[in-house]
Amino acid sequence: MTPKAMNGPASNTVVSSQRGVATTDFAVRFWGVRGSIPVPGPDTAGIGGNTSCVEIRCGEHIIIFDAGTGLRLLGNSLMRQMPVDVHLFFSHVHWDHIQGFPFFAPAFIPGNRIFMYGGKNVSGTVETALAGQMEMPNFPVHLSMLPAKLAFNDLHEGEVVDIGSGCTVTNAAGNHPGGVYAYRVDYRGKSVIYATDTEHYSIPDPKLVALAKNADVLIFDTMYTPEEYAGVGGMPKTGWGHSHFEAGVALCKAANIKHYVLFHHDPAQTDAMVREKERRTQAIFPSAEAAYEGLTLSL
Ligand SMILES: [Zn+2]
Ligand SMILES: [Zn+2]
Repeated sequence: MTPKAMNGPASNTVVSSQRGVATTDFAVRFWGVRGSIPVPGPDTAGIGGNTSCVEIRCGEHIIIFDAGTGLRLLGNSLMRQMPVDVHLFFSHVHWDHIQGFPFFAPAFIPGNRIFMYGGKNVSGTVETALAGQMEMPNFPVHLSMLPAKLAFNDLHEGEVVDIGSGCTVTNAAGNHPGGVYAYRVDYRGKSVIYATDTEHYSIPDPKLVALAKNADVLIFDTMYTPEEYAGVGGMPKTGWGHSHFEAGVALCKAANIKHYVLFHHDPAQTDAMVREKERRTQAIFPSAEAAYEGLTLSL
């Protein structure tokens, strides 16, 4: 059996989905798909244990969403094409979204340029959060000592960033303790939404529906099953800032999404549990799949 046969629909009219290389110049690759904390080990080896990091290529442009531990592997892959310019967008600065940055090898190479973007939240900017985790005695090299050129951009809500070549990145605020941004990438008439660490309550979040309208791909916080979210066998998760697959499907239908990717898996979920979450999602929204490390979507 090929890996593809185990991983849901091989392709559809919107995107091709496979493990490995992209087949078009608008492509999404998953380097870390986990929430909260890295979970290496035999029970998670298929989906992967690294925390949030997604790479999007728009032609020559390299856009990265979040700097979880998956960023280390992405950085190693970029070492083959120095010097690089990368655009690194942060949903927010909780640990699972920044902890890979001190191990992002291109930051240690002069000539590389890292443009960083994020919202100011209650705890400060992206720059203060990244610097904080690299202070002595937590880490030996301070942010200010990195040889690559770093540029920090504080985004305001609704701001559109022009990456070049007709590629834009737009944000909207989600619902998460301390605040979070969701992002939309538009390129050549197609679009991808990155919306993690957010939840909606009785109805799909109107801001997210507006941001995601008619998008080709929605990458959405699907940390929980509906039962886990409701607190069956544990604590209820309402207000924790994470979502479940029925809420994701409601958003897909409200925003006319073509393909739904389940993302930010709970660290307690084994490969089998993530695949069961995927199977249940596909039963109500067929063009859906669970993100795993190495998954590549070509638009
Ligand atoms: Zn998170
Ligand atoms: Zn968070």
